[in-house]
Amino acid sequence: MPAAEFSALFTSLNTLRIMVSAAKDMSDNHKIVTAVTDIQNQLMQAQGGMLAGLEKQQAQASRISELEAEIKTLKNWEAEAQRYELAAFATDVFAYRLKESMRNGEPAHWICSKCYQKSEKGFLNYESETHGRKTFKCVACNAKYDNDDIDDDEQRSMDFSPSPF
Ligand SMILES: [Zn+2]
Repeated sequence: MPAAEFSALFTSLNTLRIMVSAAKDMSDNHKIVTAVTDIQNQLMQAQGGMLAGLEKQQAQASRISELEAEIKTLKNWEAEAQRYELAAFATDVFAYRLKESMRNGEPAHWICSKCYQKSEKGFLNYESETHGRKTFKCVACNAKYDNDDIDDDEQRSMDFSPSPF
C-alpha cells in the first residue's frame, strides 16, 4: 500500500474511532455513516493500488528470471564458442571447426558460421555429392556448404582422420 494512501486511511480510522466514542445521539449517525463511507472508498483505492503494485512486482520478477536465463545461455555459449576456430571449409568458404585440443571425446566436426554469429550451434552434416563435390547442410538454418576437397592444411574435407586422443 502506498504510504500516502495508508496515512489517509489511518487518519480516517482514527477520526471514526473518536466519533464513535463521542456519539451521544442519532444526530451523530450521519457523520459516522459519512466517515465509514469515506474509509470504504479509501480502502478500495488502497486495494487497487496494492493489486497494481503486485502485478508490477510479478512482471518484474518474471523479467528478472528471463534475463537470468538469457545470461546463463550466453555464458554457456561463450564457453562453447571457445571450443571452435574459424577455418576454410573449402576454397573461400569458411566455417568453424572443433579445435583438436577441445574435443572432449567428441568426433571432429564443423559448425555453421552463420549460426555461430547468432550464438547458436548448427552442425554441418553431409547431404549429397555431385561430381565429386560434397555438399553439407547446417542442421539448424539449412545453409549449404560445398566442399571442393582441395588439399590444404587450412582446409579440410569431412573425412577426418581419427583423433589421436
Ligand atoms: Zn546455420
